[in-house]
Amino acid sequence: MSFDSLGLSENILRSLEELSYGQATPIQAKAIPIVLSGKDVLAAAQTGSGKTATFVLPILQRLSDADLSENFDPLALVLVPTRELAAQVGASVERYGQYLKNKPRTVEVFGGVAIPPQVESASKGVDIVVATPGRLIDLIEREAISLSNIKTLVLDEADRLLALGFEEEINKILKLLPAERQNALFSATFPKKVMELADALLVEPEKIELEAEVVPVDRIAQRAIAVDRDSRTALLKHLLEKEKWDRVLVFVASKRRAHNVAVKLSKSGIQATELHGDLSQEKRSKALERFKANKVRVLMATDVAARGIDIAQLPSVVNYDLPRSTTDYAHRIGRTGRAGESGVAVSFITSEDEEHFKLIEKRNKVTVARELIEGFEPAPIEQSDKPVSKLPVKGKRPSKKDKLRAAKAAKEKALGFQEKMRPKKKESEPASLPVEEPTIAPEKVEERNDVSETDSPPSPWANALKKVKED
Ligand code: AMP
Repeated sequence: MSFDSLGLSENILRSLEELSYGQATPIQAKAIPIVLSGKDVLAAAQTGSGKTATFVLPILQRLSDADLSENFDPLALVLVPTRELAAQVGASVERYGQYLKNKPRTVEVFGGVAIPPQVESASKGVDIVVATPGRLIDLIEREAISLSNIKTLVLDEADRLLALGFEEEINKILKLLPAERQNALFSATFPKKVMELADALLVEPEKIELEAEVVPVDRIAQRAIAVDRDSRTALLKHLLEKEKWDRVLVFVASKRRAHNVAVKLSKSGIQATELHGDLSQEKRSKALERFKANKVRVLMATDVAARGIDIAQLPSVVNYDLPRSTTDYAHRIGRTGRAGESGVAVSFITSEDEEHFKLIEKRNKVTVARELIEGFEPAPIEQSDKPVSKLPVKGKRPSKKDKLRAAKAAKEKALGFQEKMRPKKKESEPASLPVEEPTIAPEKVEERNDVSETDSPPSPWANALKKVKED
């Protein structure tokens, strides 16, 4: 559907034309008129669906129709889970509103950077605030921002907001809002907590769910390569050479690994950088900027940092480590193949990952053939209850390899035993990944980005929703 019929002004349409947005995406076509009408909205929106424009365009439209000359306190508040998303939504407001005569003033508010500039911009008067919850509360407490005049509240990526532990902050913020207002909640998944929040927040909302497209399989070629844990960096290097990807976003399970692999790649002449929650906001923004500007070829990232980020024309994503949660798989691979482009998503599957990847396939309704790459074929798994094939020769000191093999066999035996003793899991339970490196520890407020999310069962609401088919 074209944007012309959605009730947006010429000046907004001009910016969309400049961005070459030919057609509205399905969620935009469905939700823009509803958000424009001022009704509450509950929308199931996947990352990459074009959801940002879905709420930003109507907010801009309504504010540009109003007289803002005397306005001081913000009229619209967008709450987002991460700094990167705050910066990205802020940039979208700027881009979509560039030709407006009556341009709303926007402030981005997020932690990890100095507070005084944000206090200063907010204190000059603001129409739209895009914020992460913790820092917003800081600014409210410093009386730099008042929420008493908010007319539209958007919760973007509500499932992430709650998974990152922002429930308390959100409740605090909700209490500061005027009762009369429009609310819009966007979420990719609908676990119980999201539904509870939606129930508390929304008044007779219009519910929008597009045809469930867990993973946009048609645009993203998914590949799975069987490989040994220790050969993954070498395999990554090999693929970078062979596949000639311009840019690759590589997901790993820990900050340490993001750093280590980035260093190894750089040492072998491949420009690589890292993005994770241990870095200052400045370093994170710089890493992202360099990657977006094609100045580095590989971005080694943990889930958090990469969450919600939008990189145009990203041809490839690699799961060096699989995500713990099956929904994160869709989020990760959705970094490529955005807005109609095509992309490839490669997952490295070690023998320990196999069961978990099967679960990912099942939940995402895909089957991905396991590939073997010459020179990187995994070693056959040794049977733990049979004699280990290459036992050290009696009387000879065991080599480092022998020791590793013996340790692996002992570990497999122990795991096999634990597996037998464990009560049978229900199918719906997410498999746990083997923990070789420490799993990522929850970080503090605005750094709560690496907390991994567990899968939530499909919500009764989602099932009950009337399916809205694509035009
Ligand atoms: P989002 O899901 O909001 O993060 O958007 C994903 C990407 O799609 C962003 O790069 C947007 O600029 C782009 N996008 C959003 N709407 C459209 C559209 N109607 N046509 C083309 N690209 C779009």
